[in-house]
Amino acid sequence: SIINPVERAEVTQQLSENIILTTVDDLYNWAKMSSLYPMMFGTACCFMEFMAAYASRFDMERFGMIPRATPRQADLMITAGTITMKYAPNLVRLYEQMPEPKYVIAMGACTITGGMFSVDSSSAVRGVDKLIPVDVYIPGCPPRPEAVLDAIIKLRKKIANESIQERQETKQNHRYYSIPHK
Ligand code: SF4
Repeated sequence: SIINPVERAEVTQQLSENIILTTVDDLYNWAKMSSLYPMMFGTACCFMEFMAAYASRFDMERFGMIPRATPRQADLMITAGTITMKYAPNLVRLYEQMPEPKYVIAMGACTITGGMFSVDSSSAVRGVDKLIPVDVYIPGCPPRPEAVLDAIIKLRKKIANESIQERQETKQNHRYYSIPHK
């Protein structure tokens, strides 16, 4: 039957008021961003601020984030501290042990660029993104807990706007240092 434009507009209005229209992507993203489980991971002083972000004053758990002690149960790695050349293979191994979908926040000057150790030390990795893909960067030495929370909010926005297909393509196109499996 033919519906006139006025009736069609009324039907559309009623639909928008009464039916929650969503997609698989939206539901999937909502579940992911509402239950990020970061791995307890720190290699230097930035980790003090990471721990402070979990304390009562800043209360990072209000985002549904429960810290995990094993990479098998974590989907977020916050690299808090200096990454040394000697430690790099272990970092990559931990990352590879995390299940997909997984995310990385690079916290602090040392982990982003090598920081002060990039001047005259050959032991620091000049950027953790040379090892693993990074989603959000937090500059500073050390970044304050507020900056950690800001990075979490940015990551949640990023997750909310990504599609499953895009994420898979991004991961496939990102080459990172991989440990040869025996
Ligand atoms: Fe320490 Fe600063 Fe490096 Fe963070 S960025 S690990 S606070 S020296």
